[in-house]
Amino acid sequence: MNEDHDFDDLLAANRGYAASFTMQEFDGVAHAGVAMVTCMDSRIDPLRLIGLEPGDAKIFRNPGGRVTEAALEAIVLGVHLLGVNRVLVIPHTRCAVASSTEAELRERVSRSAGRDATWQVFHVVENQEAALREDVRKVRTHPLIPEQIAVGGFIYDVDTGLLDRRV
Ligand SMILES: [Zn+2]
Repeated sequence: MNEDHDFDDLLAANRGYAASFTMQEFDGVAHAGVAMVTCMDSRIDPLRLIGLEPGDAKIFRNPGGRVTEAALEAIVLGVHLLGVNRVLVIPHTRCAVASSTEAELRERVSRSAGRDATWQVFHVVENQEAALREDVRKVRTHPLIPEQIAVGGFIYDVDTGLLDRRV
């Protein structure tokens, strides 16, 4: 048992959540057949922004919403074992990793940490549109992701809530 109270508020909220929990019968399948790769940004509500609910989709998040090796691993599992037939790649406007240089991020983290952070890699995006095209290409050309899987690249506007298809 931990003695600290760091998570007390969240655990209290969780007990409330569990009290009205209704997903006992849910399997782990994506019921809407959707997988999404998007950014960790707290302004993004991945399910609701496309009208979905828990149980409907597989969501993979990282800084920038990039199609990394881990994201591809998730999509392959989603497609073959979890009912995914549509994949959305969704970076967003005003994203920190797309509007800073690696040097700037290292500088800001160094200042916050009070110690050297120049060894820390941040996968900054120099050209968001080009990165999105490349990320969608990675999904479409993956040998274990069949051609009939729909793959789209979109930019999410954090100021309007709208998705704009780019690829
Ligand atoms: Zn972001």
